[in-house]
Amino acid sequence: MSSKPLPILPGATLGILGGGQLGRMFTLAARTMGYKVMVLDPDAASPAGQMADVHVQADYTDTDALKKLGECCAAITTEFENVPAASLIELANHCRVSPGAAAVAIAQDRSHEKTWLADNGFATAPFALVGSGGELEAALARTGTPALLKVSRFGYDGKGQARVDTLAEARAAFQAFGDQPCVLEGFVKLERELSVVLARSDTGECALFPVVENRHENGILDISIVPARVPDSLAQQARDMAQAVAGKLGYVGVMAVEFFVADGQLSINEMAPRPHNSGHYTLDACVTDQFEQQVRVLCGLPLGDPRLLSPVVMLNILGDRWQNGGPHWDALLAHPNIKLHLYGKQAARPGRKMGHCNVLDADLNAALRLAERMRNAL
Ligand code: AMP
Repeated sequence: MSSKPLPILPGATLGILGGGQLGRMFTLAARTMGYKVMVLDPDAASPAGQMADVHVQADYTDTDALKKLGECCAAITTEFENVPAASLIELANHCRVSPGAAAVAIAQDRSHEKTWLADNGFATAPFALVGSGGELEAALARTGTPALLKVSRFGYDGKGQARVDTLAEARAAFQAFGDQPCVLEGFVKLERELSVVLARSDTGECALFPVVENRHENGILDISIVPARVPDSLAQQARDMAQAVAGKLGYVGVMAVEFFVADGQLSINEMAPRPHNSGHYTLDACVTDQFEQQVRVLCGLPLGDPRLLSPVVMLNILGDRWQNGGPHWDALLAHPNIKLHLYGKQAARPGRKMGHCNVLDADLNAALRLAERMRNAL
C-alpha cells in the first residue's frame, strides 16, 4: 500500500487505467484541482490520453507500464471494470489503489455479480448460470420465457445479449456467443429503470447522488432524468440498497448500482465499480460531480457535497448522429441552458458514445421536452 500519507494533495500524480470518456472526465477533474494525471491505455488516440499529463500507451497487463505507473503515481484508479484484477493487485504493491481488485473482480463477471447479489440478500431478476449448452434447459425452467442470455464477461451496452423465447433459440444464442459462460435472466416487465451513483470512503462514509431515472434504446442509455419521477419511499429504498451494496463490498471509490422497477418493486440489474454514464448529469447539476468525487475518494479527501442544484435531463450523443450530415451543434448550442460535453473520439460509429449534453431547467418536464427535441434536431 501507499507510503504517501493521506490525504494526497494537489501537485501529486494520479493514475488511471483506461483512457475512455470516463477516464477523460476524471482527468479533467483531477487537473482542474491541480493534480497531474498519468493514463494507461493502449489506444494512441484515447479520449483521456489527449487530456493527460502523461499517456502510457501500453496494454493493461504490460509489466513495465504497470511498474512505471506504480512508481510515478501517488494513487491509481480505474475507469472500467474489465481491467485485469491481477494488474490492480500488482499496482497495490506500489501505491494506493481504489477501487480494490476484489470488488472489481465481482463486478466484471455477471455470473459472480449475480451470485454475490443473491448470496447477500439483494433482489435480482430470476437468473441461472450457464456454463455449457447442456445446462440451458434447466436454466430456462428456472427463469421462464422470455429470457435474456447474457455473456458473463466483456458484455456492455446491450452487446453480448440475446432475447430467447425457446430452448432452440437459447441454444443458438449460446453457440453464437462461442459457448462461453453466460447468465440467463428472466425478462422483467420494466416499469422504470433507476440508478444510484455513490462514493464511499475508507472510513465507510457514503455520499449518494440523487436517484436517476434512465431510459434505454437498444440496450444503450439514451436519457437520464433527475430527480427520478418515483415516490420518495422508492427512491429512498434505492439509495438504501445502493449503500448496502457498497458497504457489503467494503467498497472504496465511486460506484453505480442500476435497478429495475417492476410491480413497484426494486431489483438490482448490475453494479459498476466506477463513475457511470447515468451520473454524467452531476457534471452540471450538482455541487460536486462524480469525477471530482472520484478524485476526492482516491486522494483520501473528505467527500464533496452531492446536492442537486437544478432538475436536469442528460441526453447521450451516439455515433449514429454523424450518419446523415449531422450533428447540428448550432441547434443545440442555441440553448443557454444546455451544456455540451464531447469526448474527442475520432471515429463516429453507430452506437458509440461520442458525447452527452445536460439540459437544466427548474421545470423537469420542460427539460425533458427540450432534450427530446434536441435528440431529433441533432
Ligand atoms: P445490461 O447491459 O444488463 O444493463 O442491459 C442493458 C439494458 O437491457 C437494461 O438497462 C434494460 O433496459 C435491458 N435489460 C437487461 N436485462 C433485462 C431483463 N432481465 N429484463 C428486461 N430488460 C432487461
